[in-house]
Amino acid sequence: MTVLHPQIKTSRRALLLASAGVSVASTLARPVRAAPADSWTSTQPVLQSAGWFSLKAAGATIHVISDGTGAQSIDLALAPRETVAEYLKRSLLSPETLESFRNVFLIEMPGRRILVDTGYGAQKGRAYERLLSAGLSPESVTDILITHCHGDHISGLLAGSECAFPKAMAWVSLEDLESFRLKNPKEAVRKATERAFAPYFIRRAVHYFNEGEEIIPGIRAYRHPGHTPGHTFYELTSAGQTVVFAGDVAHMAALQFARPDISVKYDMQPEQAAQERKALFARAADSGVLIAGTHLPFPGIGHVRREAEGFSFLPVPFRDRA
Ligand SMILES: [Zn+2]
Repeated sequence: MTVLHPQIKTSRRALLLASAGVSVASTLARPVRAAPADSWTSTQPVLQSAGWFSLKAAGATIHVISDGTGAQSIDLALAPRETVAEYLKRSLLSPETLESFRNVFLIEMPGRRILVDTGYGAQKGRAYERLLSAGLSPESVTDILITHCHGDHISGLLAGSECAFPKAMAWVSLEDLESFRLKNPKEAVRKATERAFAPYFIRRAVHYFNEGEEIIPGIRAYRHPGHTPGHTFYELTSAGQTVVFAGDVAHMAALQFARPDISVKYDMQPEQAAQERKALFARAADSGVLIAGTHLPFPGIGHVRREAEGFSFLPVPFRDRA
């Protein structure tokens, strides 16, 4: 495997082929230059690029890849509009709409290339195209950690109707998968979940975990239900440092760090989601662990600090050293 250096160089070709009706997946056959085994480590300098943020933490290189952003109504919050608007104004943001972020995380450590969720996939999202543009061979992805089964997290398991990452194992909470694949009241949701996981089931590559199990050396999985029935945090720990990949623990950073008690309409069990949010922020503030969230402002990874009211989010600083 080669060290992943994000550079926009092949996206035009992939886009042209895609617009000509050729599947993006068919452009993946190009050979990926092999690098000496010892260079495939987190000691390599990271090369920053648009829509892509790389850092080293907890013994790994973590890449944050934007899957795109979108306009989000403040009505998403389960709180009076005036309350929400007040917090947005404090952050000098529009009191009407805010930008919603979708971050996909890629963890590189020796012998492993691990995605945390997949974004919307080639049709609707941007992360997959960015991964290809960076020279990532989809076959080189070894594991995919699914925090929960909402479409913005699992749709990218597929590229068109094909398996997007044909050699990867997909890790997911059994409770979450069952609630979306079998028990969801909407047939469209059940079918979409079935479709996304189908090629992984065929390969026997869908894996569940026991609470707190170390599923990959250095990575443990913990259920934190609230946003969804099996919403999962994945914790990467090495050399005394921990990064908690916390999925959809928060959707409106400008509001929910100060007021973690306010949940959003996407939280299936709003009160439990609020408890989990508060507990994570308190733990992060007290212990210094980094948190990484799909919908936190890009790059979506940083520390949490206690404030007079609630908490605040302190993104990791940008570094672009040679
Ligand atoms: Zn989400």
